[in-house]
Amino acid sequence: MTLHHTSNQALFDETFNLDCPHCGKSTNLILISPPDYKTLKRFRPNRVGMCFQCASCSEPIFLKFEISSHTNTSINFYDDPTEIEKPTIEFDFEFIPDEVVEDFKEALNCYSNSSFNAFAAMCRRTIQSSANKIGAQGKSKVQHQLNEMKEIAQIDNETFEILKQIIIDGHDGAHPHLPNLSSVRAEILLELIKDAMYQLFVRKGKLKKAAELRKSQIKSDK
Ligand SMILES: [Zn+2]
Repeated sequence: MTLHHTSNQALFDETFNLDCPHCGKSTNLILISPPDYKTLKRFRPNRVGMCFQCASCSEPIFLKFEISSHTNTSINFYDDPTEIEKPTIEFDFEFIPDEVVEDFKEALNCYSNSSFNAFAAMCRRTIQSSANKIGAQGKSKVQHQLNEMKEIAQIDNETFEILKQIIIDGHDGAHPHLPNLSSVRAEILLELIKDAMYQLFVRKGKLKKAAELRKSQIKSDK
């Protein structure tokens, strides 16, 4: 990407595609706030922020570009910008108990911010507070889901062991010795924790709600 001293048209002509952090759609970005050539030449920052607009939902999206080089008539940027806002993870929290929902939400926030080890620690807390809520069977249910996931999603042994250590085994306390988590494994853990919350709380809550609705309908039909 290049910003020329005579015109910023080249920046506007560049096309970007991204998963929008607001609407979640894979979308084209429209440049709204291009940087000013003279100001960049004067202050010579290493990185520059630009604001785009999502073509689907029109919300602003901020990206940070690294400057690769200056010439006498242009400033060049690397084409792989950093996203400032990460997509939020959608989940229906309605049926998650209060004791669990805070930990779970914080876990999802850590994931959105690419803080994967913090995410792992918060997943562990989420499972612990779930087990406190539903009793000892909570952890064995999650273990069962992890086993099932290993089979269905064909998780490799090493990943399986790491996830098991994070959410089931290991020492408790303020600083459990959890293994480091890569972004790829964090993604698998994300699926697991979402699935665990669904199976432990959401599914049951939805079935209960449906049963209650049916009961009240039968009553009103009489
Ligand atoms: Zn959008």
